[in-house]
Amino acid sequence: MSDCIFCKIVNKEVPTNFIYEDEEIVAFNDINPQAPIHILVIPKKHISSLVELNKNDENLIGRIFGVINEIAKKEKIDKSGFRVIMNCGEDAGQEVKHLHFHILAGKKLGTKII
Ligand code: 5GP
Ligand code: ZN
Repeated sequence: MSDCIFCKIVNKEVPTNFIYEDEEIVAFNDINPQAPIHILVIPKKHISSLVELNKNDENLIGRIFGVINEIAKKEKIDKSGFRVIMNCGEDAGQEVKHLHFHILAGKKLGTKII
């Protein structure tokens, strides 16, 4: 998608340091971190939100969680803990309409979900 900021990051039109990259998935630091560690994990393919997922994407979503596991170990937050958030749609405050998972860590996070 030409006007999608995350597609531009994937295509390297917006230079971004990738924490992780493979043929289907990339991860990079959030530009406006909400915790000492705030990483975004996204599919390279443009999927606007969770509700746009289809059966063919199930393997991709499983792989994203595998990548999150790998990043957690690499960032040494696997023992201390972390939170994974995915916002979907307006009421959840989804700003970027390209599916992404937030990894938040590096401090005691609030105990409430909202
Ligand atoms: P959402 O609210 O859609 O779940 O989260 C979007 C996230 O993307 C926000 O945390 C925001 O800071 C981050 N973000 C928006 N634009 C950019 C960008 O150009 N680069 C990076 N690295 N993060 C971005
Ligand atoms: Zn996109």
